Amino acid sequence: MEVFDKLESEVRSYCRNFPTVFTKSKGSKMWDESGKEYIDFFSGAGALNYGHNDPKMKQKLIEYITDDGITHSLDMASTAKGQFLTKFYEAILNPRNMDYKVMFPGPTGTNTVESALKLARKVTGRTDVISFTNGFHGMTIGSLSVTGNSFKRKGAGIPLHNSVTMPYDNFMDDNYDSLDYLEHFLEGSGSGVAIPAAVILETVQGEGGINAASSEWLQRVEKICKQWDILLIVDDVQAGIGRTGTFFSFEPAGINPDIVCLSKSLSGYGLPLAVTLIRPDLDIWEPGEHNGTFRGNNHAFVTATAALEYWEDANFEAGIKKKSKMVADFLESMVENYPELEGHVKGRGLMIGISSSVEGLAEKVAAEAFSRGLIMETAGPDDEVFKLFPAINIDEDELKAGFEIIEESIKSMVK
Ligand code: PMP
Repeated sequence: MEVFDKLESEVRSYCRNFPTVFTKSKGSKMWDESGKEYIDFFSGAGALNYGHNDPKMKQKLIEYITDDGITHSLDMASTAKGQFLTKFYEAILNPRNMDYKVMFPGPTGTNTVESALKLARKVTGRTDVISFTNGFHGMTIGSLSVTGNSFKRKGAGIPLHNSVTMPYDNFMDDNYDSLDYLEHFLEGSGSGVAIPAAVILETVQGEGGINAASSEWLQRVEKICKQWDILLIVDDVQAGIGRTGTFFSFEPAGINPDIVCLSKSLSGYGLPLAVTLIRPDLDIWEPGEHNGTFRGNNHAFVTATAALEYWEDANFEAGIKKKSKMVADFLESMVENYPELEGHVKGRGLMIGISSSVEGLAEKVAAEAFSRGLIMETAGPDDEVFKLFPAINIDEDELKAGFEIIEESIKSMVK
């Protein structure tokens, strides 16, 4: 760690929350340079939903590299790209009767969000985008402008324009209907603001504190968007790829977004890869109007193709749902058995956590768990939530071992 303590004054790597140097990882386990083992309930903030170094993906990648497969081909056709696209349609879009065109926006989450915001403006000829309190969409100017976090926005040092933040589901007290607020706004009562190009939302806000919108709320947002001819963008960068129990987080709500943003766990192996799914009639860009050097990485295509094969197994989703229930039951029991937490369970699927009203307690529990060999993160405006993001295919014994560490950590904090 010494080398990092020294480097921290020169580079800003922000590795202080997990003060050790990691050397190795496999499945849901990580090891540091002293050989200490950790259970990973962080999963690269949702970039490692299938765990670390998945053996099937690793094997495919080794074979591809050994055969001198194309590494970088910019926008040229390559076998790896073709196989990925074929698998994406066969395993994901076709079985769900989804009619989207796949676009490569650039390598990361913020790139897919930028492409969605830009396309929505071009298609509608309108300027503003509606986003929601505590939403998180990325760190570049466009995605930051729709991020509902004043601390992050301050990082730009200038006012961020062309976005309007509306209250997310359950943001206000029970007597206040957040979507009534949105409708009043659109009807112009008091606002006088132009109709926006798009609404962008996460179905479960990850960075914002694991706030899960209800299906009814999402359906009503979709209805409002249709009524006003506003494009609905679902940012599934964190909540997608199985994190909430289904491949797309919006499947249980039965909504059909016009644009979907995917990244993080798309490659399955922690390699950068993003796609923007667009309604076919929105495909109006001329070739070259949106480009980028690293749009689609061939190594990521190889691992992504292998990752998508998991979804062809009919039992795969059932496995995630079973583990989701185990985690929810465990967290509910923590809230009940340790009233000192002043906590409640938030989230959906394996994107779930406990929000504690006791200032600083969530961070203390996470730090204590880390010292006992479990990695988890905090979220929310005041880091008031400790969040559990285990791999979606974690085995049950590892899950239970993680629960034990969390309970021991809570016990030691509230005694
Ligand atoms: N959207 C959401 C919902 C995210 O959680 C994130 C990253 N935490 C992003 C966009 C930005 O992704 P990236 O960091 O890969 O640019």
